[in-house]
Amino acid sequence: MSDDSPRTVYLDYAATTPCDPRVVEVMLPFFTERFGNPNSLYALGRDGYRALEAARESFAASINAASPTEVIFTGAGTESDNAALVGISQAGKARNKGSHVVVSAFEHHAVLEPSHFLERNGFEVTQVRPRQDGIIHPEDVEAVVRDDTVLVSVMHANNEIGTVQPIKRLAEIAHAKDAYFHTDAIQALGKLAWDAVDLGVDAASFSAHKIYGPKGVGALYLKRGTPFQPLLMGGGQESKKRSATQNVGGVTAFAKALELCDEERDTETPRLEALRHRVIDGVLALPNSDLNGARDVPRLPGYANLVIKGIEGESMLLQLDNKGIAVSTGSACSSGSLEPSHVLLSIGLAPEIAHGSLRVTLGRYTSEGDVEYLLAELPPIVERLRAMSPVYQKMFGSGS
Ligand SMILES: *Cc1c(COP(=O)(O)O)cnc(C)c1O
Repeated sequence: MSDDSPRTVYLDYAATTPCDPRVVEVMLPFFTERFGNPNSLYALGRDGYRALEAARESFAASINAASPTEVIFTGAGTESDNAALVGISQAGKARNKGSHVVVSAFEHHAVLEPSHFLERNGFEVTQVRPRQDGIIHPEDVEAVVRDDTVLVSVMHANNEIGTVQPIKRLAEIAHAKDAYFHTDAIQALGKLAWDAVDLGVDAASFSAHKIYGPKGVGALYLKRGTPFQPLLMGGGQESKKRSATQNVGGVTAFAKALELCDEERDTETPRLEALRHRVIDGVLALPNSDLNGARDVPRLPGYANLVIKGIEGESMLLQLDNKGIAVSTGSACSSGSLEPSHVLLSIGLAPEIAHGSLRVTLGRYTSEGDVEYLLAELPPIVERLRAMSPVYQKMFGSGS
């Protein structure tokens, strides 16, 4: 490694992942020779249709859907979340299910924003806060679900702190009140063995680019019989639930990406957990630093979120970027604004503490060397920033 080409260390797998070359390979023919519209009747169209349905069957088998028809391919994880929140709530309300919706306070904006849309359109929305450990506790959901609740939506794994929620129990609580249960499983898919029947959910959202597939490809699991009103209207594709010509190559790639995660999970999980512990221990060796979310709760293997008190996360991010290291502070979607992360606020962090957060998310191509490089470059950066920070001096004196 020469000095004029600093190494690039990507540690932001929660924001997106590179496509696995094996995924790119299965996708390529669909851009050129296998370009047929899967809804056309001639041979080229039938070829597309077969590929589309093969992807659906493979995806459905992986998530243990009762039938491939329960898998609807969409144009993004965001679209799946929007469609679930709005589509199930509105159709459920039309079936006299009531107009109360429950979401967790640390959902992705792709769930929170449609929940606000519902609020402006005749629904009442209750937010359930996670506790400091980063978990939505079942009894806190039980306390707010009502007879007129139509939908409960709680994400499977949080995209900022990586904590894994007790989805099976939460779905039971929703069902006890005859409400439907949706989970944004975008971060959980591929990293956890994901089983629709075992979890007992009515709907779940997925996104390809978080699991080494292409961007702009999503899926929505919709259990048979779940009321649903489509967001996209048009030619009636995807069993009339999502009109638009399907992205045959994209969904073929998505299915392949999921298959690879399934194959490699048993070896990948312990490898990433070990690296994650190394990151956490390394960062906690800095004075006045803290892990976000409890250490002993279920957490995605490669995810660590820490606060380094008395510094501005954005400054740390830019200085690490100078060293070729890509990490995140708060959510990627809200960086660019200096609003503290709603996720960190929801678990009880003060805004000035939340500003000093560091999210490190590891994945398939992360090596031990990458982690050691981060842990070597971070401490001098933190020291420099703290030396310049009046906030830190005030909080902790001029010690470290
Ligand atoms: C990335 C992500 C989304 C959005 O998915 P896109 O495919 O980028 O639209 C939604 N929810 C969670 C938890 C995510 O991590």
